[in-house]
Parts: sequence; structure tokens; C-alpha cells
Amino acid sequence: MGALIPVRDDLGLFEGYHSPQVDVAIRLNTNESPYPPPAAWVEALAAGVGEIPFHRYPERAATDLRAGLAGLHGVRPGQVFAANGSNEVLQTLLLAYGGPGRRAAMFEPTYALHSHIAKITGTAVVAGERELDFTIDLDGARRLLADHRPEITFLCSPNNPTGRSESREVIEAVLDAAPGLVVVDEAYGQFARWSALELVADDVPLVVVRTYSKTWSMAAARLGYLVGPAPVVAALEQVALPYHLDAMKQLAGSLALRFKPEMEARVAIVNEERGRIAATLAGLPVETWPSDANFLLFRPLAKDADAVWKELLDRSVLVRNCASWPRLAGCLRVTVGTPEENTAFLDALTEILT
Ligand SMILES: *Cc1c(COP(=O)(O)O)cnc(C)c1O
Repeated sequence: MGALIPVRDDLGLFEGYHSPQVDVAIRLNTNESPYPPPAAWVEALAAGVGEIPFHRYPERAATDLRAGLAGLHGVRPGQVFAANGSNEVLQTLLLAYGGPGRRAAMFEPTYALHSHIAKITGTAVVAGERELDFTIDLDGARRLLADHRPEITFLCSPNNPTGRSESREVIEAVLDAAPGLVVVDEAYGQFARWSALELVADDVPLVVVRTYSKTWSMAAARLGYLVGPAPVVAALEQVALPYHLDAMKQLAGSLALRFKPEMEARVAIVNEERGRIAATLAGLPVETWPSDANFLLFRPLAKDADAVWKELLDRSVLVRNCASWPRLAGCLRVTVGTPEENTAFLDALTEILT
């Protein structure tokens, strides 16, 4: 009999990814939509599930879903790859294009899962530093990419957890300088004014990753996808497990696309509320940064961030505590909720800080 052996040496080096799920009245910590999906979608899904031949494997190519997404974005179905959440899309990209002996570049601070999944797949992480206002310094980026020649370069636009989206100029400059594949994570793309989707073409080494988790109010469904060159999609299909997308999920994702106006209405409410939160934060003793997403990063100036986080929790308001994250000392991140939730957060924060 063998022994209970330790995990791979390189996995022992870092901690897993956690976001505490505390039982509170107002949860503004994981950037989900505060609104459930439309009731008509739930009804259509329930009816459709009754028709699924559950004794058979699901349709492997997810034809309907990919055709629907291709129609949504004006591309071909062969330019769409879907998986169990956009995190699995990122993992599949790293399995196909990263791995031992290869490098993935990113500009910190950014979405923690980019470096986390890179490490799990044995891909070396090359981290560039953002400016103090969290923008990307293009000269520094060009140097980094020239020095390390990464196979994959990650951008996140709008960037989680800092909020701002990248301009077309920045994305084009990085595309120009990157020696390999550029991955633009647009988990919050619908909240922003511009999308890198318009740059996607079969001869451009760019993929844009999107998710149903945020704007489509479907975090529980675990569905994400990318739009990119057909040869990249073909490579990802080779790496993905057979039948990785179950029949219910394919149906849920296809049906959701019938409710685009409802999705856009929810996005519009959130964007308006984001403006209201930003305006109130501007009058409080905090440092804040502009956001094109459904969350805002802020740093209490006169009071310790851990203490503010705890006092918010005492008032049953949960925000994300980024205070101990590298390059984000003293920062908290709040997700835009319903107007009532946002008012409760702002009232609580005002009381704590003044
Ligand atoms: C929330 C988020 C995702 C979503 O991941 P899913 O696996 O699709 O739920 C991806 N990227 C970023 C930057 C995010 O903030």
C-alpha cells in the first residue's frame, strides 16, 4: 500500500482562493447582480429541463448556446468557447497555452485568479506593476513583455478589484507588444462603455472572456465563455474534458439570451447606483478610484480598514476586505447592490467615518 503522499511541491507554496460567505443581511462582497434573473427565464428553464433526455450525454459541441452567443456578438459559432464559469475558460486557456516552461504576464493588482490558476497549471507568473492610480504604464508593459516573452498576457477590463476599464489604445498597444496570446477578461464588460470584442478576428492573437455570473444574474449557473480566433477555440476544445458543459447549463445559457433587454435594464440601474455611491464616497474621508464596473474600491483615510470592515459587519453589511492584499493596503471593495442596500451601506459607512 502506498502512503498518503503530499501534493505537488509547487502547490504547497500558496494558499487557495477564498471569499468568506458570512451570513449577513447585506452582501456586497462578491460582485454578483443584486437582482435575480427574470421570472420568465426561470419558467422557460423549468419547462425546458423537463424535455432534456437525461439518460444521454449532453450535446458535446453546445451548438445552440454557441450559435446564440455568436449571434449576440456578431461572430461565428466556431469563434466561441464555453465552459463552467469564466474561471474554467481561463483554466482551459492556461492548460492549452501555459504549463511548465511557459509564462503568463499580468499587471498587478488585478484579478487574483489569473495568477492563481496560472500557478496551478504550472505556468510561471510574470507580474508587472500598475501605476499608483492603477493604470498600466505602457513603457513598463513593453519592457516586461520584451524581457519575459510570455506565451499569455492577461488584461482585465474593467479591472477587478480596482474598477477602471482599459482604453482601446492600451489594449492595442499591449497586443502590439505581446509575443503570444492576449486574454482580456471582461467579466464586467457590459458595465463599461467600450469592449475589446470589436478587435477579435481569426488573425489577431486576442481572446475576450465573458461570464454569465455578473450582468446576467446567473452566478449559480456557472457559465462563462470566450470569443476569439477559431484556431484558439479548436485548441481549447482539445483540452476541455468531454461533455464538460451539462445539458441544463447549455439550456440556461441559451434561454438567457432571449432576455437581453432585461439584462441591460439591470446593468443601467447598477451603473446609476454606482454613480450615487461614488458621489457619496467623494464627500467622506476616503480615497476612491473611478469605476466602470459594478463595484468600487476605496481606502478609509483616518481609520484602519480592518476596523471599518468589522464595524460594517457589525451593522450586517459585508464588503470585500482587500486590506491585506499586495498593493492594496488599507483598501475595501464594495459591490453595487439594490438602491436600498446601497443606502444602508452608505449610511453605515458615514456613521463609522464621521
Ligand atoms: C467574477 C469574475 C469572473 C467570473 O468568474 P466565473 O467563473 O465566470 O463566475 C471572472 N473574471 C473576473 C475578473 C471576475 O471578477
